[in-house]
Amino acid sequence: MDHMANVGFSLNFEIIRKKMVHEQIISRGISDRRVIDAMLKIPRHIFVQEAFAAQAYNDKALPIGEKQTISQPYIVALMTEKLALTGTERVLEIGTGSGYQTAILATLADRVYSAERIRPLALNARKCLDYLKLFNVQLRINDGEGSMIGWEEEAPFDAIIVTAGAPEVPEILTDQLAPGGRLVIPVGAGPDQQLITIIKSQDGELHRESSVTCRFVPLIGKQGWQA
Ligand code: SAH
Repeated sequence: MDHMANVGFSLNFEIIRKKMVHEQIISRGISDRRVIDAMLKIPRHIFVQEAFAAQAYNDKALPIGEKQTISQPYIVALMTEKLALTGTERVLEIGTGSGYQTAILATLADRVYSAERIRPLALNARKCLDYLKLFNVQLRINDGEGSMIGWEEEAPFDAIIVTAGAPEVPEILTDQLAPGGRLVIPVGAGPDQQLITIIKSQDGELHRESSVTCRFVPLIGKQGWQA
């Protein structure tokens, strides 16, 4: 994995990034100013392999190796907006992958805990996050047998985002959500999922909303899919 091989082209990429934010994010209805600013700020091209750098701001997911993908920019923006972050939150992310979504979260929240089951992806993400001086991120590699889901020692979280598709909303995650917290997760039995937002009320009741159809790689684990 050739991390950060593309940093030298940053001026060019800044222009393409601005175009991406206007054409793919703002024009499709994302209105949270903080999310828009984070998408303008974080260089997406450093999170992809050199061969894909020229496509980093295209309207699609891209391969990142290990049969995994970096999500489409619009889906990153949409999921982040649904978390309604204000800057004070402790956020859990399941599926660090490239680390791009992690960087967006780190820009918008107080602290980010991100778990990944594929070691080389986590190590590459760490390098990218360090390069961007996003030091409020704690990464964890869950490559043990059974692929654990969640991060019990650091729970509860004000926001949880799952960037892999699950068969159902894992109870282990709703349990790790703080009162008033939000969980965003793609849920579905086939290759396509519905983007689900779970809001936990102050007295612990769960409210469920469904939005767009999306396509994520599978969430692996006991309350996910089998490897
Ligand atoms: N947000 C990432 C998405 C990467 S794809 C990005 O945009 O780059 C989803 C990731 O979830 C994959 O890297 C996969 O290895 C990881 N994953 C799947 N099941 C997991 C689990 N139980 N715990 C942690 N990571 C998991």
